[in-house]
Amino acid sequence: MRTRLNRLQTEWIRARISFHLISMALKICSNPFRVFKKLQQLRSWYDLTFYENIGIRKIYRSQDRYFFRLHVPGWPSEAYKKLMRAELEEVFGVRHRGSMLQFIIFAITKQCPLRCMHCSEWDRMRTPNEMSVERLKGILQYYQDSGVSQILLSGGEPMTMVDQIPELISDSHEKIDYWILSSGYNLTPENVEKIKTAGVTGVFISIDHWLPEKHNTFRDNGRSFKWASEAAENVKKAGLLLCLSICATKEFVSTENLWQYAGMAKQMNAQFIQLLDPKQAGRFKQRDIDLSQQQIEEIEQFYRDINSKSAYRDWPVVLYGGYSMRRTGCFGGGKRFLFIDTNGDVHSCPFCESTTCEACTKDIKKPAFYSTLQISQ
Ligand code: SF4
Repeated sequence: MRTRLNRLQTEWIRARISFHLISMALKICSNPFRVFKKLQQLRSWYDLTFYENIGIRKIYRSQDRYFFRLHVPGWPSEAYKKLMRAELEEVFGVRHRGSMLQFIIFAITKQCPLRCMHCSEWDRMRTPNEMSVERLKGILQYYQDSGVSQILLSGGEPMTMVDQIPELISDSHEKIDYWILSSGYNLTPENVEKIKTAGVTGVFISIDHWLPEKHNTFRDNGRSFKWASEAAENVKKAGLLLCLSICATKEFVSTENLWQYAGMAKQMNAQFIQLLDPKQAGRFKQRDIDLSQQQIEEIEQFYRDINSKSAYRDWPVVLYGGYSMRRTGCFGGGKRFLFIDTNGDVHSCPFCESTTCEACTKDIKKPAFYSTLQISQ
């Protein structure tokens, strides 16, 4: 079951989350005045990075936990505590870990039935997978030990590996929130149940237009929208969280299209929407893809309105990385997240071509490369 909390429930859970945060802060620093000041600082940074007066306005309950932002694990949980402890240690200047790495995007397979116009993995795809399940597990174990709180399994199409996913995540799903980044392919009711039983928290489904034919053209597959919408229904029935993800191209971006898309996501019962700016990578390399200034302003206005205006309380929460990037910089390169490709090489993000290093050394337990990654961007 997953439900959206009503106003009263939201206030109650928000108060409990705040109380928990304050008590975590007081464990780091016993001076309440300093705690107050530092929490204000953290809040100002969030306001600047995400949008003004960010607060928690929409909360979803799923499998006995509460979710309010896409890259914040469900509360209460070990994963949530890990993430917020790192944030607090950073703001109090007492960080013990080598980095603020909080989540990884891990491409586990080169196989995919689609040919999307924007595919950033294109050059590495359609050859046999190089990494064995053992190797994939080793990398996951390595990042689990390193303290990440969220892992996004991508590809290619990760659902082509549905039979291996339970084995991959079985050792760590209680400490880490796992999400699947899918096109909707192979997310049948049985397979959704399989990943749910394995411990997956939620699924991103890529839909690149609210008009089915435009999405299908973008994905170069006449059945893609059908797969995606049936997958969304199956995810809903299983009670997993759902995020619709869109590459917001210059052909797509207009205020009308953004709201039509959000309306579709609301109808599909998605809790989240992820908006991605088009990037010069993979099949989009050297293409004329940049958004105009007017389009950027339209997306930012939409992003602020849907997340903060009370009229949109029952609409999905939107994550728009481009907004944060233009204000406080990129979170990739190990600052908050990393991308590991299907060869096991690490990149700052799925769109940065340069390889930073191997996913982990031969000795998986060896202390890592975080400090170098922090300056690699
Ligand atoms: S973008 Fe994703 S779904 Fe599309 S071809 Fe690339 S890997 Fe496959």
